[in-house]
Amino acid sequence: MFFNPNIYPSEEEEKRWDTYEKWSKEAGVNTRRIFVPHQDWAQAVSIDLEKPGRCRTCYYVRLRQVARLAKEERYDGFSTTLLVSPYQDHQGVLDAMQEASHEHGVPYVYRDLRRGYLRSRQMARGSHMYMQKYCGCEFSLGGDG
Ligand code: SF4
Repeated sequence: MFFNPNIYPSEEEEKRWDTYEKWSKEAGVNTRRIFVPHQDWAQAVSIDLEKPGRCRTCYYVRLRQVARLAKEERYDGFSTTLLVSPYQDHQGVLDAMQEASHEHGVPYVYRDLRRGYLRSRQMARGSHMYMQKYCGCEFSLGGDG
């Protein structure tokens, strides 16, 4: 599932989606994109624009949507690629997974994937994938992320 209303500007979101869609086709993985306007995300995080509050709200906004869909479509559980990045607030991601899981009554799958981060970068580079230069939102584009 590709659900990233946090990404700014829209050209960056398209680049990431194109990369993800191409990979999922090659890998034979069913995928889908859910689109929510960036403005809605901005409204949600506006309660606290400083880190770590902004990022924690951002994780929760995204993961609750994943958990909701997992519940509706009767998946056994849900997880997130955020767990591979050493640059994310790992505990914040886990807290958001737990909250979303509790809210929608669907299990989450947790693994600390950070030790695979460098390998994942090498694989992406080897496959000539587009690689993001910043986390996603306008704040991280400006260096705060
Ligand atoms: S820096 Fe990343 S995690 Fe934090 S609010 Fe921006 S997009 Fe979300």
